[in-house]
Amino acid sequence: MAYVFDAPRIVSLPVAGSDARFPVHRIYCIGRNYAEHAKEMGATADRSQPVFFLKPADALVPEGGDVAYPQATSDLHHEVEMVVALASGGRDIAVARALEHVFGYGVGLDLTRRDLQAAAKAKSLPWDSAKAFDHSAPVSALCRADRTRHPRAARLMLSVNGTLRQRADIADMVFTVPEIIHELSLLWELVPGDLIFTGTPAGVAALARGDRFRAELEGIAVLEGRIV
Ligand code: MN
Repeated sequence: MAYVFDAPRIVSLPVAGSDARFPVHRIYCIGRNYAEHAKEMGATADRSQPVFFLKPADALVPEGGDVAYPQATSDLHHEVEMVVALASGGRDIAVARALEHVFGYGVGLDLTRRDLQAAAKAKSLPWDSAKAFDHSAPVSALCRADRTRHPRAARLMLSVNGTLRQRADIADMVFTVPEIIHELSLLWELVPGDLIFTGTPAGVAALARGDRFRAELEGIAVLEGRIV
């Protein structure tokens, strides 16, 4: 069988302590998952209504490094987040069984064109152009769950040019990882290779060309890079 042009490449992440890579299927994201961040955005975190959006798999920037400042914005924001990687999936996954599907954990930046998001919100329009742009998802190497266990608490930090911008604990998430997997599986069939950005704590702010970032999920993953 021939394709009419070269098929797109498989997007993947390195796995710490292994030569094998994790092939990425989709990138799901949850919004408003830390109360203090929801507040700084003028919203409230609502336990009855998780906010989901997606980024295309090829928005991934494996292990950070040089990240191009995107076109069509003058207000690029950082959102540091724990990233969950799935080794298996399904529909209607029970909260109590959800962690059985987790391959491992990493740390990522949900880069956001905040000006486009604000304009979309004002008109009740979708967020795709604000969230799902090229190179909008730098993510660290993954740490396997059989090495990290399943963290219920861990410090999540982001420094820009050596100054701490965001710091929180994943214990403060509004929806826990098992709850996020459950809720997503009510809306989509999850499959091996899916990544989930689990929301950002307070302290989001602008990034400029030349800024160096360092994101860390303490004891699990580090992501470093530079906006170019
Ligand atoms: Mn986010």
